Amino acid sequence: MTSVDLLVQAAPSATCDSGLAQGPWDFDTVPGYGPGASLDDTAPASSPRQGALPAQYREAGDDELSDRIAAARAALGPRAVVLGHFYQRDEIVQHADFLGDSFQLANAAQTVPDAEAIVFCGVHFMAETADVLAKPGQTVILPNLAAGCSMADMADIDAVEDAWAQLTALYGDEPDADGRAPVIPVTYMNSAADLKAFCGRHGGIVCTSSNAETVLEWAFERGQRVLFFPDQHLGRNTAKKLGVPLDRMPLWNPRLTLGGSSAEDLRDARVILWHGFCSVHKRFTVGQIEQARAEHPGVRVIVHPECAMAVVDAADEAGSTDHIRKAVAAATEPTTFAIGTEINMVNRLAAEFPQHTIFCLDPVVCPCSTMYRIHPGYLAWVLEELVAGRVVNQVTVPDDVAADARVALERMLAAKPKPATTGSEAR
Ligand code: SF4
Repeated sequence: MTSVDLLVQAAPSATCDSGLAQGPWDFDTVPGYGPGASLDDTAPASSPRQGALPAQYREAGDDELSDRIAAARAALGPRAVVLGHFYQRDEIVQHADFLGDSFQLANAAQTVPDAEAIVFCGVHFMAETADVLAKPGQTVILPNLAAGCSMADMADIDAVEDAWAQLTALYGDEPDADGRAPVIPVTYMNSAADLKAFCGRHGGIVCTSSNAETVLEWAFERGQRVLFFPDQHLGRNTAKKLGVPLDRMPLWNPRLTLGGSSAEDLRDARVILWHGFCSVHKRFTVGQIEQARAEHPGVRVIVHPECAMAVVDAADEAGSTDHIRKAVAAATEPTTFAIGTEINMVNRLAAEFPQHTIFCLDPVVCPCSTMYRIHPGYLAWVLEELVAGRVVNQVTVPDDVAADARVALERMLAAKPKPATTGSEAR
């Protein structure tokens, strides 16, 4: 029985979607993200689809799949490395060589030069990034190609090119007296490789939730303004922390001329925020924080910066998944934590640190739809295919895109995260 099954069976009325009781393969032929937090988001027609998973993997029990994964890993030895994101289910995480957030996994992918195959248990943009950073001859595999990211899909290259053309027409392309460009593009790691390449071509950079502050400072040294995509919340929360007033952060709606803002507001902007969001972190509310404080006096509330600004402001702390994990691990006294991030990670923290009381701010069980798509059945399948000498579900980024994306990623890897923010600093 999987961790998601356990959650569904334990509290069937408290899940956001009854489809969570089904195997992810039940949704492979259906367009969309599948059950979970981004169920209502619109998946682009061009999203990769996953072909049918062979029946032997769909029908195998959990113990059998675990044994088969372990046997395949033993047969492959150092030829294959398995990377697992914090939001993956426990049945996947237990087989991962590296567990981390997108920043840590981007680094980890570079530390395994001898591995012929990097099996990325995360979502599509992460596998693309691993391929961009991989050594020649290394193969990157995503166990389920339908594991995309609804936030990443909210900005595509055509819409960003169009926004850039409009902004260039408005600002011109001459630097100011200090040599700063009119606008610097910054893309969140949660974006397609062609958007990272766009940033590489236009003097921009990639950021993660771990190093967004450092990256924005980097961009402000080089530009008068920043175009930040696709997550408006990470952009707003980070810029606010750096002292940028809210009225200098207009929103860019790609469906509207000038993003729906006036030319005057855009000229005065410091950060132009793309109209994107994460459906997992959108679920957290100030009301949930108030309820947690009422029911658990002294509770320490930590949320991810993909949450809305009001939620970040109401929390005690905000930080990346790595920050959240380190904050819990560093607590020396038994503490009650209310955490605002994906449920699989919160449950794992609760199991790992039994001296603390740890719960998810959202009382409804609603995992990330796309992380949910990676099931041990798919992992067993791709690994056993590798043992047999066959590569399935390879993710490749074209050479020209990879070259430009690498420029923006290498700038990011050089931008080390700042020490974590705690307490009232995050407010
Ligand atoms: S948690 Fe949100 S940002 Fe992360 S993969 Fe899922 S949808 Fe994308």
